[in-house]
Amino acid sequence: MATAQLDQARIALKKYFGYDNFRPGQEEIIQGVYDKRDTLVLMPTGGGKSMCFQIPAITMEGMAVVVSPLISLMKDQVEGLKANGISAAFLNSSQTLDEQTTIENEIYHGEIKLLYVSPEKMLSPNFLPILRQGAVNLFAIDEAHCISSWGHDFRPEYTQMKFLKKTFPDIPVIALTATADKITRRDITAQLGLENPHVFISSFDRPNLSLTVSPGQKRYEQIVQFVRKRRNTSGIIYCLSRKGCESLARKLSGAGYHADYYHAGMTSRERNSVQTDFINDKIPIVCATIAFGMGIDKSNVRWVIHYNLPKNLEGYYQEIGRAGRDGAPADTLLFYSYSDVMTLRDIIEKNVSEQESIQLAKLERMQQYAEALICRRKILLNYFSENLGENCGNCDICKNPPSLFDGTIIAQKALSAVARAKERIGVNLLIDILRGSRRREVLERGYDKIKTYGAGADISSRDWQYLIQQIINLGLLEIAYDHHHVLRLTEEAQRVLFGKKKIQLARMAEVKERREKSKREVKVEKKRNRVKNDLFKVLRQLRKDLARKKGIPPYIVFSDATLQEMAAELPVTEVDFREISGVGDVKMEQYGPIFMRAIARYQAAQGGGKLNVAPSLDEQSTAMIQLLKRGLPIVEIAMLQKLTPEEVSSRLAHLYASGADVELKRLISKTELKQILELMENLPDPIRRKDVIAALDGRMGPEKVDYAMAYIERNG
Ligand code: ADP
Ligand code: ZN
Repeated sequence: MATAQLDQARIALKKYFGYDNFRPGQEEIIQGVYDKRDTLVLMPTGGGKSMCFQIPAITMEGMAVVVSPLISLMKDQVEGLKANGISAAFLNSSQTLDEQTTIENEIYHGEIKLLYVSPEKMLSPNFLPILRQGAVNLFAIDEAHCISSWGHDFRPEYTQMKFLKKTFPDIPVIALTATADKITRRDITAQLGLENPHVFISSFDRPNLSLTVSPGQKRYEQIVQFVRKRRNTSGIIYCLSRKGCESLARKLSGAGYHADYYHAGMTSRERNSVQTDFINDKIPIVCATIAFGMGIDKSNVRWVIHYNLPKNLEGYYQEIGRAGRDGAPADTLLFYSYSDVMTLRDIIEKNVSEQESIQLAKLERMQQYAEALICRRKILLNYFSENLGENCGNCDICKNPPSLFDGTIIAQKALSAVARAKERIGVNLLIDILRGSRRREVLERGYDKIKTYGAGADISSRDWQYLIQQIINLGLLEIAYDHHHVLRLTEEAQRVLFGKKKIQLARMAEVKERREKSKREVKVEKKRNRVKNDLFKVLRQLRKDLARKKGIPPYIVFSDATLQEMAAELPVTEVDFREISGVGDVKMEQYGPIFMRAIARYQAAQGGGKLNVAPSLDEQSTAMIQLLKRGLPIVEIAMLQKLTPEEVSSRLAHLYASGADVELKRLISKTELKQILELMENLPDPIRRKDVIAALDGRMGPEKVDYAMAYIERNG
């Protein structure tokens, strides 16, 4: 019996959602629901919680009622379900009475499989009769942590949900949340009156998110570099202040990146408009305070940047968790500097509260994470009481493991400077002294007279930041937060100063070197992926157009992960297309032919589609290649072939790009090629032919640009 039910579940997963397999845990949870067990599900954002009640709802008789606290989320989920051919609806205060009546009628007629309601609606007296007649088979309480006053999103109405188990003791309740701590967990079970619930806690690991921490110097420049490589992909930049959001968005817009901002100081209309444009891929970049992202389900957020250090790891993890919900690779970047820690400490200390010491301790954990020299994901998961056996391979430390060297002398220089400045200087002033700065403050305070003045001039100030950070982490220096953040020597420092102890530091230069190597690797990878990516762009545009026509967010049409798979697999038959993860029956019918046509067109334009495989050539092309080999100039080839010279050169460039045996050296000299490539490097992405021609300013003909572009296309 049970297995037959699970078979049904698996069939529904493929038919409606286009997925072949359940994720870990989903099957077990669904089986529990079939067995009418109350269930508590803890899964990270993007883990696939919804499926745990959607599949039972679809496969069982009757209707599932889902309580969800955020109206925008509700709408999103219902749209997503409908796009997959599942009859779903929502009831909340945003609707007119007429709209509500229509839906109530559908419920009476058993036409709804999934009904989303707000907690208020659930508790309203006129809703109870609907529940009684609607043949409810399951109650799902989404964002169940809202029930706990410990949680950050406490919702008083949630605490009254206990009436569900009292009124409908035989209907299973499934509570779902991404907040994992024990108190919240206990609260949920108690408040809902769950009976001996099946508790499922999934791993909080999100392996598709890359983790990078970067020193907080030149943040803006780093951001521009970062977004330049990710043109037209959606991302969020979290900033501490409203003003910071606004000015960053303006600067990025000024530099040609379409960015907007979002914070609590705006009217709700302004905020909604930004959010909607973000969801619909109309604004790719949003600079926001932490409030942004809470009520949206957008699965194709490809990156998250933290302009400032978050207050704690919970907040940080929740915020980066908004990237890559579709499971496709997504990148996160955190900027870290001491001054951020200091600002946050000041904020915490100013808001006198009983929790001050807890908050400071949490901030310290955040700081440790940012300063880590071991796999960051290990630290992160450790914090959530999870043990990652191996290094993750997808964080900056794993990708560029720092190498250690004897740092005793370097540390002695820094410690001695601190001692000679009588422990009255902070990190920045210390660096100034070590580097022999002529800054006024240094001279006025007479620090140019102390023995270690200029003793570290050979190390850049950025590297010093990095080194001093480590010296502090090693417990040799302490920051006196209560005394203008000056540095103090610890007992351990004395031992190092007097040569009784040696210490190891991680080298900055090593990291840079390795980065370059990995850049090369990236280049190779890029070449391999070029075709794939170009097609992905085409498919993304197609998705956007379709979504606009239908008035739904693009990721509801297909997720990024699904489009990426299409771009890699190139399905042009119905059987192949149906194999793509995320293509269910309805989407096959509605969008399949359109996307298959686009893929086929793209392949045709690529001359067969395969990279670096010589295309089968027509007679004329073969002749042109031979004539070129014999050393004929373009004009003569053109005459022989009855073509214009422009046509010949553009054709040869195209042939070369697609892998044909065209001797490029006869078309463009090495120096010319080098000049154009250098020029292109300095142009903003995406590089367009006409921009290169303009930049050349007549120094070479446009055909040379075609050859250079063909060179890049073929060789990366
Ligand atoms: P959560 O509610 O836990 O944040 P969702 O239910 O929104 O996560 O799921 C996140 C993404 O994962 C969605 O795009 C969803 O379609 C996808 N997903 C869920 N289950 C599976 C599965 N078994 N196979 C592939 N993708 C899945
Ligand atoms: Zn790692």
